[in-house]
Amino acid sequence: LSSKLPWVGTTIFTVMSKLASDTGAINLSQGFPGFDCSPELVALVEKYLRTGFNQYAPMAGVPALREALAQKTDQLYGVSYHPETEVTVTSGATEALFAAITAVIRPGDEAIVFEPAYDSYVPAIELNGGIPVFVTLAPPTYAIDWEDVRGKITDKTRLLIVNTPHNPTGRVWTADDLAQLAALVHQRDIWIVSDEVYEHIRFDGRPHLSLATHPVLQERTFVCGSFGKTFHVTGWKIGYCLAPKALTAEFRKIHQYLTFSTVTPIQYALADYLKNPEPYETLPAFYEHKRDLFLDSLRGSRFQFQPTEGSFFQTVSYQSITDEPDYDLAIRLTKEIGVASIPVSVFYRQKNDFKILRFCFAKNDDVLLQAGERLCRL
Ligand code: PMP
Ligand code: GLN
Repeated sequence: LSSKLPWVGTTIFTVMSKLASDTGAINLSQGFPGFDCSPELVALVEKYLRTGFNQYAPMAGVPALREALAQKTDQLYGVSYHPETEVTVTSGATEALFAAITAVIRPGDEAIVFEPAYDSYVPAIELNGGIPVFVTLAPPTYAIDWEDVRGKITDKTRLLIVNTPHNPTGRVWTADDLAQLAALVHQRDIWIVSDEVYEHIRFDGRPHLSLATHPVLQERTFVCGSFGKTFHVTGWKIGYCLAPKALTAEFRKIHQYLTFSTVTPIQYALADYLKNPEPYETLPAFYEHKRDLFLDSLRGSRFQFQPTEGSFFQTVSYQSITDEPDYDLAIRLTKEIGVASIPVSVFYRQKNDFKILRFCFAKNDDVLLQAGERLCRL
């Protein structure tokens, strides 16, 4: 069989997590919490599992969960999505991203992708016959050069992918970013997929500026979210897509044949659990403490960094330590000092020499301190 994705191998997340497990290293590579979710949430799932909520959910999601998502979005961002026609529950944000990209991209269409980019975007574009057009974001600020973006828009541009807060750099979009993008896409046939899975994880008082908050952007955007990051349940693979009615109609045509519907008892449990805003309101402080603890533990190291603005990832530069390629260094650090990380070059298609590693700090404090101590040995 000739491959449709010849350049794709096993993802770096699988490779590094396996190496960490094989070597007994501290795993700060793949992004997932090293602690459990709330027992209250587990009890809710158990309740629905035991009381017969075990058959197919409606294709678009359990109505109570769609309603709860619409209410939360209205309260937090002042934007109304109709639960019947504009909110869809998916099997993780990964499915939402794939369905949204598939809804937009036809063979030969161009899609603008900011690099470094989360690894699922480009394969989804290419499987649909689209052509990714890259805009490079460079350390240390990873700020967007809007002139560069403008120069890359052509008559064939149909899609632009946004991710805020950003994996792996943590960068959080500003009001100026939203305004710049709105000016570029206004009155053009360009749609936007906005990956906002880390919406509740941002630091130093920064707000999350959902693309839904800007009217010009809202009308052309598929906002993709995930409960995995927000409630420490990455293994549940449950996410959603918010989009205006006409976009949702097309989105659902894809979702219907990708997975049809998503795990039923968890949807009911999440609908109940979402009624209390406390778990996500306390998330910024919870993770800011972990970020600061990890960074304090790195102060004695030779890594250079700026505190991450959002997400549970911290990138560091090792430029003043070694010339090794980041992949080699990530493998060596795992084997020799027992800390696994992600080499950021894997998030770029275009070659560069940035020398950056990504560490996930969604771990217990003692684990972060131990990792920091080990990293100071390099
Ligand atoms: N987008 C980004 C930026 C992510 O980091 C992740 C999580 N790894 C996802 C999407 C996928 O989310 P989910 O696990 O809900 O599919
Ligand atoms: N999003 C997670 C990360 O960036 C990993 C998800 C996955 O393993 N596919 O580490």
